[in-house]
Amino acid sequence: MALRTQLLRAVCNGSQARQFSELKGKEREGVILLRDVLDDRLREIKRAKTWKHERVLTSPQDTKVTVQGAKGDFLNFCANNYLGFSNHPEVVEAARDGLKKYGAGLSSVRFICGTQIIHKELEQRLAKFHGREDAILYGSCFDANAGLFESMLTPEDAVFSDALNHASIIDGIRLCKAQKYRYPHRDLNELEHLLAHSESRIKLIVTDGVFSMDGTVSPIAGLRTLADKYRALLAVDDSHATGFFGDTGRGTEEYCGVLGAADIICSTLGKAVSGAAGGYTTGPKELVTLLRNVSRPYLFSNAPPPPVVAASLKSLDLVEQSDDLRQRLRENTRNFRSGLKAAGLTVAGDDHPICPVMVGEAPLAVELASGMLERGIYVVAFSYPVVPKGLARVRVQLSAAHTPEDINRAVQAFSEVARKIGIVKS
Ligand code: PLP
Repeated sequence: MALRTQLLRAVCNGSQARQFSELKGKEREGVILLRDVLDDRLREIKRAKTWKHERVLTSPQDTKVTVQGAKGDFLNFCANNYLGFSNHPEVVEAARDGLKKYGAGLSSVRFICGTQIIHKELEQRLAKFHGREDAILYGSCFDANAGLFESMLTPEDAVFSDALNHASIIDGIRLCKAQKYRYPHRDLNELEHLLAHSESRIKLIVTDGVFSMDGTVSPIAGLRTLADKYRALLAVDDSHATGFFGDTGRGTEEYCGVLGAADIICSTLGKAVSGAAGGYTTGPKELVTLLRNVSRPYLFSNAPPPPVVAASLKSLDLVEQSDDLRQRLRENTRNFRSGLKAAGLTVAGDDHPICPVMVGEAPLAVELASGMLERGIYVVAFSYPVVPKGLARVRVQLSAAHTPEDINRAVQAFSEVARKIGIVKS
């Protein structure tokens, strides 16, 4: 019997599952080839020890989490939950209200019928929060970066990007036709050299505000000076700063004492602000209007869902209402960094809750993270190619929701494990 007829019959008599398993023996040649090719690549990833293991949480994201297959709970030091909003009762309640009032989602992109009053409200709030003319929401900051450069730059223009910029900036730049330059991490001299030799029309400097693997802060004041000298624009991705960095949480430019220095800010709503999802670009109104008209991740992807938008609005209320959480986060950061230093460990980066505990070789970083996990503390080791060879580390991220006891427990555990595995001599 012809295969198609067999399949039809099987579907008609309800034995679809059996028929599919019979089909497995006659797999399409294209799929067989794909499996072979991918098997090789997957083996390569394992050989390079860059395989990503995903632990499955069985609890909400918080400072204490439970993990599938593990007993008890873990003190969590590896989320971007800087202000503790991921599971904050008021944020969760706002998301629930948003769900009830505006439904689960829009089933549409923004310009067809996917714009609700809360999307407009959030865009206005974000623009006002940053003191900019207008803002545009995206499904993520990855999308915001993917949609920025291609929309605003042509072959007549040029983009100058810090070597350690986030993958979404790198990918966004790949999509555009402007001339592309990469300057060494935070190297203003090299950047100036590139700017001075460029005859492009628009010159756009782009940098992370805070670099996520290193906890280092971008030299925003110096970048602004260069931008002014060479009639360039400055774009800052402030995903690891918005809401908590700087006195009032306005981000890296506020922390550096140059509020307003960036011409364009892209940021996420998936870290400090709500922790759910979403991203945005804020800046000159002509740019935002252009993005609404031509930016592909905005035009061709669903509107952010109402519960997520409502959670972000509530988070902004909390960010603006009080400095308490930022203060607590600063104290936690100070105590953790000084505790580890006293224990003989090296914590890289600037004055930021991203605290990379530097170890050196990859196996040692894995051993350190495993030892912490055995003590109920969830941290992650990073090694090449995510960070340069020989600079493997365990990255710790602090939250305002960590208690002083949580911080002490983490410091104590780091000290014990580091001594046990010989990173620190006892
Ligand atoms: N930009 C930076 C600097 C980031 O660290 C991240 C997230 O890791 C993103 C963009 C992407 O943010 P989102 O999760 O909103 O896509």
